[in-house]
Amino acid sequence: MREIGQFIDGTAVRGGGTTPFDTIDPATGETLAAVTPAIAADVDRAVAAAARAQQEWQAMDGAARAEVLNRIADALSDRRMELAELEVADTGKPISEAPEADIDSAVDCFRFFAGVARSIRGESIDLPGSLVYTRREPWGVCAGIGAWNYPIQIASWKAAPALACGNAMVFKPSEVTPLTAMELAGIIHEAGVPKGLYNLVNGAGDVGAMLSTHPGIAKVSVTGSVATGKRVMAGAADTLKAVTMELGGKSPLIVFADANLDDAVSAAMLANFYTQGEICTNGTRVFVHRSIRDAFLEQLVRRTEAMIVGDPKDPATHVGAMISAAHLDKVMDYVAKGKAAGATVLTGGERLTGGLFDRGAFMRPTIFADVSDDMLIARDEIFGPVMSVFDFDDEDEVVARANATEFGLAAGLMTRDLSRAHRVAAALQAGTVWVNTYNLTPIEMPFGGVKQSGLGRENGHAAVDFYTRSKSVYVGLGPVEAPY
Ligand code: NDP
Repeated sequence: MREIGQFIDGTAVRGGGTTPFDTIDPATGETLAAVTPAIAADVDRAVAAAARAQQEWQAMDGAARAEVLNRIADALSDRRMELAELEVADTGKPISEAPEADIDSAVDCFRFFAGVARSIRGESIDLPGSLVYTRREPWGVCAGIGAWNYPIQIASWKAAPALACGNAMVFKPSEVTPLTAMELAGIIHEAGVPKGLYNLVNGAGDVGAMLSTHPGIAKVSVTGSVATGKRVMAGAADTLKAVTMELGGKSPLIVFADANLDDAVSAAMLANFYTQGEICTNGTRVFVHRSIRDAFLEQLVRRTEAMIVGDPKDPATHVGAMISAAHLDKVMDYVAKGKAAGATVLTGGERLTGGLFDRGAFMRPTIFADVSDDMLIARDEIFGPVMSVFDFDDEDEVVARANATEFGLAAGLMTRDLSRAHRVAAALQAGTVWVNTYNLTPIEMPFGGVKQSGLGRENGHAAVDFYTRSKSVYVGLGPVEAPY
C-alpha cells in the first residue's frame, strides 16, 4: 500500500507521527494510502526550510518567479487525467467534473498568478517637497490549511498567489484528502523553486493548530468551516498573524417571476448538486416567486430525478460518493430533522443501497419544499445535495429573508429585469453575487465571504493585498527643518 508522510525542504519524508491514518476512497471503502501525521518538530523543520528558501525567492524578480509558476502549470497540465483520477479516488467526486473543475482550474490559477508576479506594485503619493511611495512586500512564510472538497484547487488557490508575491508556504491538506496536494508539492519543487519554498505537512486539526500558532509563520489562510476559522483566528492572535478565512455558507438563490425558467432550474441544480452538494458557495436556500413555484418545482424534480448517481469513475455519473460515511450520516440526520420539522421531501431523501452503493457513501439529490425560514435545514450549512425551496411574494421581503443569516459567502438571482438585477445584487449581503448564473469562479474574480463566511479575498489581483504587506517609504527632498 502507498505510504505518504510530509514534504519538507524539497524531499518527501516520513515525519515523526507514530499513528498513521488511512485515506480512503469513499466510493469503494478501499484504503488508498497510509498517512503518517507530522509532529511539532516536523512543522518546525518545514517552517525553517521555508524561511531559508523565501529569502532566495524574494530576491528573484517577478519575471523569474513567473517562469517557475508557468512551469508548475505546465506540469499540472501534462498530468491532467492522472491527477483528476487521483482526486476522484480521494474525494468521491465524479470524473465528469474533476479534469476541468479541479485540475484545469489549478493550471489556470498558476498561469494567472504567473502574470501577477510581474505586476506587483505599490503606489506613489504626491506630496510637495518629498517623495512618498508604498511597496508591496511578501509576508515571509505563509501557512495554508485546506478543506476536503476541492483539495488540489484549494492548495493551488493558496500556493500560487503566495508564491507569486514572493512568500514561502507550509500547507496542510485535509486529513481526508491529502493525495493530490502531495503531488502538487513534488511538482512545485521540480519546477525549480528554491529548495524548501513549498512544504506540506499532514495531519488533523492539531497539525493545523501548530501552523496557526507558529511564531515563524506570518500569515495563515484557511479554507474550512466557520468553527475552524474561529479556532484558527484565535490561534493566530497570540502572534498577531494576518488571516484569510474562506469559510462556510448558506447562500440564497432568488428566482424572480420574470426569470427564464429553464435557466433558473439549471442554476438551482448546479447550485446544489454539483460535487454532491459539497461546495461552500452553494445556493441551498432557493427562493422562488409564488407565481412560478409550481412550474419551477415540476421541472426541477423531473430533471433532478434524471440525474445519475453512481460510480465516480464512470464518465456518465453526475453525482458521486459523499466524502465519508460519517459525513453522509450527518447529512442524512439533517434530512431526518427537516422531515420531522414538517418540510416535504419532493424527491430523494434517502441513502442508496445495493450493489456498489453498499461499499461507499451515496445518497440521492434531495429537494425539500414547505420549508420555513426558522427550520434547522434552512439555517445550517448541510454540505450535501440537499436543496430547500421557499416561496416569496415581493422583492423587499425576499432580500430581507435572504440576508437573515450569519453567513455571507455568496448569493444568486435570476431575472430579466436589469434594474432589479443590480438593485438586488447591491442589497444582498454576500462576498459574491451571481446574476443569471451560479457558482462560476474564474480566477480573475476576487473570491471570499462577508459576515461569518470569511475575511479577506483569494483570486484576482485582490489576492495580492492579502499575500503582501504594505510598506510606506517617505523620502525627504529638501533640508531637514529642525526647531532646535
Ligand atoms: P474543517 O473546518 O473541518 O477543516 C478545514 C481544515 O482545517 C482541515 O484541514 C482541518 O483539519 C483543519 N483544522 C481543523 N481544526 C483546526 C484547528 N483547530 N486549527 C487549524 N486547522 C484546523 O472543514 P472541512 O474540511 O470539513 O470542509 C468543509 C467546510 O469547508 C465547509 O464548512 C465549507 O463551507 C468550507 N469550505 C469553504 C470554502 C470557501 O472557499 N469559503 C471552500 C470549501 C469548503 P482536518 O480536517 O484534517 O482535521
